[in-house]
This record gives sequence, structure tokens and C-alpha cells, in this order.
Amino acid sequence: MTLTVRDITKSWGGFRALDGVSFSMESSGLLGIIGPNGAGKSTLFSVVSGFIGADAGSVSLGGAAFDRMGPAARARAGMVRTFQVPREFHHLTVRENLMAAAPGQSGEGLVGLFLRPGRVRAEEVAIRAEADATIDFLRLAPVADTPAGRLSGGQKKLVELGRALMAKPRLILLDEPFAGVNPVLIAEIAERIAVLNARGIGFLVIEHDLDALSRLVPRLVVMDRGRVLAEGAPTQVLLDPAVREAYLGGVAA
Ligand code: ADP
Ligand code: MG
Repeated sequence: MTLTVRDITKSWGGFRALDGVSFSMESSGLLGIIGPNGAGKSTLFSVVSGFIGADAGSVSLGGAAFDRMGPAARARAGMVRTFQVPREFHHLTVRENLMAAAPGQSGEGLVGLFLRPGRVRAEEVAIRAEADATIDFLRLAPVADTPAGRLSGGQKKLVELGRALMAKPRLILLDEPFAGVNPVLIAEIAERIAVLNARGIGFLVIEHDLDALSRLVPRLVVMDRGRVLAEGAPTQVLLDPAVREAYLGGVAA
């Protein structure tokens, strides 16, 4: 299945944050998006994930047009995102955060609880088991009962990834998964992403940390001022003079 992003344009006020952005990827693949601050990366993510509407252009997955679908419908179709600033519920524990991210709970709302208490209970048991399996996979078991607000930056990123995994997506959009994370945890997050990718889950990753991203993904899209500047293997695009000029200010990498 292919994620196709075609000719996306988006202005904030009079400012063109996205100016005809196109790219595509296999939903089971691993694609990185880099670019200097203000290039439009987060805006692109919001458009692709359905949190904001584009002025023009289209997004589709496996031929299904996403343009009229909100984030929840896109998540049901297999694509979820994380945020640059983690949006965990800081007063809830890690396990509660993951359980709250499970989709389609019939216990949502009091009516469901009164009408189908047995079913709600069975569902909760299943969701709890799923959350614990995900917590184990992400090696968060020691902090499963810790309020998310007390975790380190890197652990919060793992909780974000865990919340995304609870939707059982085929494709996950990660906005700066390594930002504010210590090098040891960066390596660990990257390794978990690689394992998930080997299991068939695709990742579209925005990242500022060029080194970590270049090691993780086989292909990069470079953005600058709302446009795609270059695309290709990390070693190839990072040697591109236009990329060095825009992204690295012309200095040697
Ligand atoms: P990046 O993630 O690459 O740093 P962004 O997509 O966050 O870039 O921002 C691209 C441009 O759009 C920036 O100039 C930013 O100030 C502007 N921008 C982003 N979000 C908004 C918003 N909600 N309202 C107005 N301007 C915005
Ligand atoms: Mg951003």
C-alpha cells in the first residue's frame, strides 16, 4: 500500500508554509523528513494526519482519499501520528496512558457502561493485556505505574510511541522522536523502531538529529521553505550542494 502526498499547499495567514509538497512511500517503509526550523515539516505532518486541512493538494493511502477524513478516521484506516511535544496525560500512569489510547472502546460514555457491563469488562481486560505487552516491548515495565508527567523526555517519547501502537497502525508518523532525548535512549528508541519496521509497521519520521535519522532510514526527503528540496539515500542527499546550503548553512557536514 502506498502513502501518496500530492501538491500540498498550506498558508498561515499570508505565509506559505507548504508550497506544492509531493512525495510517496510504501506504508511498510521507513522514510525520513529533514529540513531547517520553519521548513514546514510539522505543518506537513498535521496535513497528512488530518489535524489541519490543506489549501490544495491531496493525501491518500492505498488509493483511498484521506482529504475529507479527520485524524480519527485516518487512524482507523491505519495511520497515526505522534506530536513533537508529547501529549501524554501527565497525571495518568504509563499503563493508563496506553489504555486510554486504545480505539473503539464500548465503555466510552456511561450508557455503554450500563448497557453492556460484561462486554466492557472483557474489553478492558483485553486492552490492559495489549497495553502491558506494548509496555514490555518498549521496556517501560519499571515505570508502568508511574504518572507520565514524572518521566524523562525520552521515556515520554516512548509513551507517545506506545500510544500510537495501541491503535495497531500500519503506518506511524513520528514528529522529532529524538528531540530532547539522551544518546543512550535515542539508540534504544531507534532500535525499537527498526524492530517494529521489520515486523511490517511503516514509519514516516521528522527529525532534526541528522545523524540518528540517517542511521535509521534508507531514504530522506529534504524540505526547505515549504518545498521538497531533494530526495534520496541519506549519504546522497547530504552531499547535495543545495541541501548543504539550506540545511547546514553551507558548512561541511
Ligand atoms: P518545522 O516543523 O519544519 O520547523 P513548521 O511546520 O512548524 O516548521 O512551521 C512552518 C512555518 O509555518 C513557520 O514559519 C511557522 O512559524 C509557521 N506556522 C506553523 N504553524 C503555524 C500556526 N498554527 N499558525 C501560524 N503559523 C504557523
Ligand atoms: Mg516541527
